[in-house]
Amino acid sequence: MTATATRVLVLNSGSSSLKYQLLDMHDASRLAVGLVERIGEETSRLVHTPLATGGAKRETEGAMADHDAALKAVAAELAADGLGLDSPQLAAIGHRVVHGGLKFTEPTVIDDAVLTEIERLVPVAPLHNPANITGIRTARALRPDLPQVAVFDTAFHTTMPEYAARYAIDVATADAHRIRRYGFHGTSHAYVSRKTAALLGKDPSEVNVIVLHLGNGASASAVAGGRCVDTSMGLTPLEGLVMGTRSGDIDPAVTFHLKRVAGMSEDEVDELLNKKSGLIGLCGDNDMREIRRRIDAGGEDGARAQLAFDIYIHRLKKYLGAYTAVLGRVDAVAFTAGVGENAAPVREAAIAGLAEMGMAVDADRNAVRSDEPRLISPEDSRVAVAVVPTDEELEIAQQTYALVSA
Ligand code: AMP
Repeated sequence: MTATATRVLVLNSGSSSLKYQLLDMHDASRLAVGLVERIGEETSRLVHTPLATGGAKRETEGAMADHDAALKAVAAELAADGLGLDSPQLAAIGHRVVHGGLKFTEPTVIDDAVLTEIERLVPVAPLHNPANITGIRTARALRPDLPQVAVFDTAFHTTMPEYAARYAIDVATADAHRIRRYGFHGTSHAYVSRKTAALLGKDPSEVNVIVLHLGNGASASAVAGGRCVDTSMGLTPLEGLVMGTRSGDIDPAVTFHLKRVAGMSEDEVDELLNKKSGLIGLCGDNDMREIRRRIDAGGEDGARAQLAFDIYIHRLKKYLGAYTAVLGRVDAVAFTAGVGENAAPVREAAIAGLAEMGMAVDADRNAVRSDEPRLISPEDSRVAVAVVPTDEELEIAQQTYALVSA
């Protein structure tokens, strides 16, 4: 790496998508951002925004057979802006990797052994790790000389004590199949809990924070002195809060029932709980904006949307209570991600009635729209309630750059 190499390309490879951001860690500015969708289809689409040049958004449509084709197309777009992957200013590529198991507790420079280990985790993350691996292989082929770093969604949660991480099932069976609670969204929980401490003017080691990452996927975490002590997602991202399309917590016997009584196959149950449940299963919409619109419109349809909203809020309250008990003392609750950052009614309803737990929301503060971290609790509140926008790409870039420039 040359002294002038301060740029990091962050890649987030999904099964049929590739999200990317090129950042300059000199000042944490974004030089370019973009997304390739529908990889493997005839109608693949690349949307590229060259922020460094102030140029307009560019869209390209046309078949991109695989991640290799997609990344080459991204590289061409970057090159057209003078930001190509061959630039000596590029210090590293940082990859989001969903599952790092117990082995990866820190960001890790990828070599063949690391890649093999990530492959070994495919059985516990069949939906996510294969796409991440494809992205890594493609990027390594394009720039074999460049450090590539894996930043794991699970890493922040590896500090959970054994009694929080284990399911109460037969230990030998659990260990044989690596069944335990890993947790996800760790990059976001790490970033937001740190930012929340900063908002309070404290060091992360001094504060206990409950982070509510409420996006289409949603998870809560209890962070004590900067270390995660519990989180709501488990072996997979299905456990915990009610999400856009996932059920969250459910009696596992429901799955036996669906198979034995409803005659559903394993795959059908999987699809029901991951794709057709949560808000969309309850009311037909997974976008909180639309759910609020329907509630405001009233009538029978509004009542259906209201019930979905109430179930979502009830689950949030249960986790707030549980994590208050786990932490003993809560200094802050931080709302983040698409719903947490934007949906004031969700924040208001989740905290309503929790005055005995020292939590309250000030209506005027809650109504403010901003991209900055901010307090929404009243001045005299025992627990600070905050909105703290997450930035997983920046966190991945920072962790990647810290590792390669050390
Ligand atoms: P994320 O997964 O973090 O990108 O969050 C996506 C979700 O955020 C969407 O499905 C919406 O439910 C929610 N969302 C985004 N913008 C708003 C908004 N202005 N008001 C309410 N919910 C929003």
